[in-house]
Amino acid sequence: MRSDLVATIRRSLFESSPIEVFLGLGSNVGNRQGHIDQALAQLDTENQIRIDSISSIIETSPIGWADQPQFLNGVVKIETALSPFDLLQTIKHIEIQVGRKKRRRWGPREIDLDILIYGDLVLEHPQLTIPHPEMIHRRFVLEPFSEIQPDFVHPTQNRTIRQLLLQLPDDAVSLTKPLVQTKVSTD
Ligand code: AMP
Repeated sequence: MRSDLVATIRRSLFESSPIEVFLGLGSNVGNRQGHIDQALAQLDTENQIRIDSISSIIETSPIGWADQPQFLNGVVKIETALSPFDLLQTIKHIEIQVGRKKRRRWGPREIDLDILIYGDLVLEHPQLTIPHPEMIHRRFVLEPFSEIQPDFVHPTQNRTIRQLLLQLPDDAVSLTKPLVQTKVSTD
């Protein structure tokens, strides 16, 4: 099939049935804000992704291995026509483009992109679990998510993001300071 025709079909599919997706963003190596900005800019260049809104970026304490630098974290809401696995492949590719190096699990990373929510999909697969299983325990996810869409109802918890945030125990991963908005515009 002609490539312009394929592009048109893809575009109309995207326009007719985009899925609302929330991605987690994190970085704790090198130019952290720069890595997050680059990842957002790469997402923005993808044909089948439209950035809807971006949370504030906050500085947070590491979990897992404590002997590593502070993280910057945020959440971005996108609309996409990509399947969950194509989206996973896309974000893994963006991580490599931004310069993520292979290191220990839970360890430092130039950039980390996670699929938190993909519409109302519930998926358990060896390569992909949606909603992201840890998101409900992480203040550094729920807080920026809540800034974008506090009334979003989590597909398996039957609670809103605001409710999940309010019911977190006080000792759940502290935030250290709120930071600036990112540079990528969503206009
Ligand atoms: P990470 O170390 O966070 O980059 O993730 C490592 C692996 O987790 C990925 O290569 C995925 O196969 C897997 N994974 C499972 N569920 C998810 C999800 N919801 N979002 C991103 N990665 C996931």
